[in-house]
Amino acid sequence: MDGPQHDQAGAEYGSGHITVAGGRITAVGAGPAASVPDGARRIDGTGCLATPGLVNTHHHLGQWLTQGRAQQSVLFDWLTELYPVWARIDAGQVHAAATAGLAWLALSGCTTSTDHHYIFPRGSAVSGGGDADALAAEVAAAARVGLRFHPCRGSMDLGRSSGGLPPDEIVEDTDAALAATEEAVRRFHDPSPGAMVRVAAAPCSPFSVSPRLMRESADLARGLGVRMHTHLAETREEDAYCRQALGRTPAEYAEDLGWLGPDVWLAHCVHLDEAAVRRFAATGTSVAHCPTSNARLGAGIAPVRHLLQAGATVGLGVDGAASSEGTSLAGELRQALLAARVRDGHGPSALTARQALWLGTRGGARCLGRDETGALRPGLLADIALWRLDTLAHDAIAHGPGGDKDGDPVAALVLGPPAPLELLLVGGAPVVEGGELRTADAAEAAREVRAARSRLADLR
Ligand code: ZN
Repeated sequence: MDGPQHDQAGAEYGSGHITVAGGRITAVGAGPAASVPDGARRIDGTGCLATPGLVNTHHHLGQWLTQGRAQQSVLFDWLTELYPVWARIDAGQVHAAATAGLAWLALSGCTTSTDHHYIFPRGSAVSGGGDADALAAEVAAAARVGLRFHPCRGSMDLGRSSGGLPPDEIVEDTDAALAATEEAVRRFHDPSPGAMVRVAAAPCSPFSVSPRLMRESADLARGLGVRMHTHLAETREEDAYCRQALGRTPAEYAEDLGWLGPDVWLAHCVHLDEAAVRRFAATGTSVAHCPTSNARLGAGIAPVRHLLQAGATVGLGVDGAASSEGTSLAGELRQALLAARVRDGHGPSALTARQALWLGTRGGARCLGRDETGALRPGLLADIALWRLDTLAHDAIAHGPGGDKDGDPVAALVLGPPAPLELLLVGGAPVVEGGELRTADAAEAAREVRAARSRLADLR
């Protein structure tokens, strides 16, 4: 590829090349490639910026079916309205929603996404109907769209009658949740290099999961060698719940249960005190920062600058489409930059455009334990996004009034609107070309998700 390139080792090339073979990057550098094998496909990236494919570190794909509800609600009220609706979603509807959600992520430059599915109504976890095959439905959707996928087997076992927030009928038996999590890992997790699917253990949150399920999920994950994910410190109400019901801050609670460590990434982390920030950095715990969702729910702004300064890893997540209807990962680059700058008067030095891009690429890859993606370097996976910056909206920022030497393509990508995607490669395979999905049929996916939504509405 020729065109302006940017790699995450710090080098940037106004004009350069990336060569790819066998699903991996074989060379990156300035100017044209020194050698290209006969018959190799050549893509002209003139007018474009190549970056690592974006990595999405938090999502609930099933929520595609419930966008636009509870628009003025805080998290607990929003959840209370939506839990009963989510409880009716079956595996076929999950497949339609996941296909739509992952297709849309691909079109916003995402090459690797996680998902956190945690609604498994009682009795459906191990076998039988209901939602038992939701994870299989998601894995099939990711294969259909062609994205690298990290599904998290979520769980809840603390119903309302036990002091939790969710209705009793949508939480699982603790032992059944643990068994189903182990089954999901054995069925779908691929630990090999370049894997397309890796599973994480993911009990949902302090207010929907018992301490035993948290602790034993951690033991299970570490025994199986998989990563751990949960929600933490999302709202002031959760902070108050933890202090009153558990006698600790959310971060203290997590640490007591074995939920800080280099194999853990935590969604939101909006309400962390200085001690928590230091513990996250010291333990290697990562954060999935979801600025749009946090703003939509009025939850607050995570202390990203403090976390980065302390040495903690931060990635970006779109979060589910019911609290983040746009779910554009490219849009989260700008959202993260703006949120960091308005937080507590940090000002414009809080986060640069390049730092925002790092969060969306290398930071996200570290959250998921995937050092083989999130950067453009020889030997890493060929997960690459090629963005058009010669558009009306981007050209002046990318190229500047005096030509390329005054322009800043990274600023055009981050500060401008989400740029059109010329090409998206996952392991060297084209997923998007010329702004169009080349794997799944986008129109068919839209029809399927519309039908799934209307079936959900019929069940009211
Ligand atoms: Zn979430």
